[in-house]
Amino acid sequence: MANNEEIFKKIIAHSKEYGFIFPSSEIYDGLAAVYDYGQYGVELKNNIKSYWWKSMVQYHENIVGIDTAIFMHPTIWKASGHVDAFNDPLIDNKDSKKRYRADVLIEDHVEKIEEKIQKEVKKAAERFGDTFDEQQYRTTNQRVVEYQEKITSIKTRFVDSLEKGDLADIKTLIEECGIVCPVSGSKNWTEVRQFNLMFSTQMGSVSEDSNQIFLRPETAQGIFVNYLNVQKSGRMKLPFGIAQIGKAFRNEIVARQFIFRMREFEQMEMQYFVKPGEELKWFEFWKDARIKWHTSLGIPREKYRFHDHDKLAHYANAAADIEFEFPFGFKELEGIHSRTDFDLSAHQKYSGKKLQFFDPETNESYVPYVVETSIGVDRMFLAVLSNAYNEEKLEDGSIRVVLNIPPVLAPIKAAIFPLVKKDGLPEKAREIMDLLKFDYMCQYDEKDAIGKRYRRQDAIGTPYCITIDHQTLEDNMVTIRERDTMTQERIEISKISEIISSKMKKNF
Ligand code: ATP
Repeated sequence: MANNEEIFKKIIAHSKEYGFIFPSSEIYDGLAAVYDYGQYGVELKNNIKSYWWKSMVQYHENIVGIDTAIFMHPTIWKASGHVDAFNDPLIDNKDSKKRYRADVLIEDHVEKIEEKIQKEVKKAAERFGDTFDEQQYRTTNQRVVEYQEKITSIKTRFVDSLEKGDLADIKTLIEECGIVCPVSGSKNWTEVRQFNLMFSTQMGSVSEDSNQIFLRPETAQGIFVNYLNVQKSGRMKLPFGIAQIGKAFRNEIVARQFIFRMREFEQMEMQYFVKPGEELKWFEFWKDARIKWHTSLGIPREKYRFHDHDKLAHYANAAADIEFEFPFGFKELEGIHSRTDFDLSAHQKYSGKKLQFFDPETNESYVPYVVETSIGVDRMFLAVLSNAYNEEKLEDGSIRVVLNIPPVLAPIKAAIFPLVKKDGLPEKAREIMDLLKFDYMCQYDEKDAIGKRYRRQDAIGTPYCITIDHQTLEDNMVTIRERDTMTQERIEISKISEIISSKMKKNF
């Protein structure tokens, strides 16, 4: 198969050609980092959301869902720290006029050094064979040790400078690392500046400062400010969770990599309120539960890895990302954070309202701690799509493009084909459509030869194709063809629904 960059390009082209994702406002030349979901895209996206919602809300008696507004009181963003600290350090290259996130430039540089270490380790492993002790090699080989020290020193200095707000030193660090602009190849950098990622707008008719409100950059705050409403109205006891799916907006400086980093996107977040002191136990619980959710879809475990944060955000006492191997490498797909009582305490302070839990066991009131799981719907969509896209060489030498989407997420579950457009076959096919369409998204197709129709369904990831032929009129049997194996079987019409449903079994 082609290299990763080419595959990624093909996935983007395929998404457009087959109605999954279109660039927003395309006839006006698009709008950077904003995308629209097409007829199959919206189905896949809805299925991802539903699979998450079921695993969180339907599956757990102590988790409830809510849907809060995008517009919120502006003080919320002061309390959450977003007004003062939701910034990215940005830097421009004067020659290419391209803008970068300083942290991303440094991260990419560190990754290159890490790749060098990997190369050394691989070479040594081949040389020493079975007797190779990687741990020992990493700690004793001088070159590897030097690389590792370099990485640590760059990372520490970057974090220190960022914390101190010493943006001049971040620029010096970029220069000292010899980082060049990937476009112009030059080191002609501007100063580093902080850039707030929140979009703002005015509420009401007068555009005064006091009317300024923000488009939420995360859904979590809608949950925090409703903590008490839900706890009281639902008579919830700790531990309990509140889940939400909704849009979030961030004015990303470097929005690239298709739907990986968008300016308008969707999040699926769950805040789990726990007794202080129990948060690390629940943090481990949710790390485990979330990776199980991912692998329950049949996507290989090797495609995922955990990345524990060594540098924690000011509000967290433990944090890990679930990274996925996208075509452009392992990148964050989901975050699991132990946020302590940071948010509820801040809202308590800024609102002047008590946000506590009365524990009948200890007769005490306290602010609960929170463990959150936060995943981007669009990033999950990209993960599913990039794992699903396959170009298979068939026995006759032709190439089959197929999306091996997990059946439970597939946009269309079954396609119904009359073998020919006459002799009562379309009518029989419509009868079968009517039988299935309340439970499953189905598609009727009578155009072109069967082979072509199969290919069209493979390209959108339909797990089953059902063909009605003359024999069907006599024995009520149809041919069912499975997407991944391409095997065909003759079955009774009454069995179709059972077969489709057996593929949709959940296992999270
Ligand atoms: P990154 O470091 O990639 O910017 P983040 O750490 O800022 O992500 P969080 O604030 O933890 O992300 O948001 C939780 C999840 O929301 C992320 O794991 C990701 O799946 C999704 N997400 C965040 N920003 C974007 C974006 N601009 N476009 C699409 N999805 C996003």
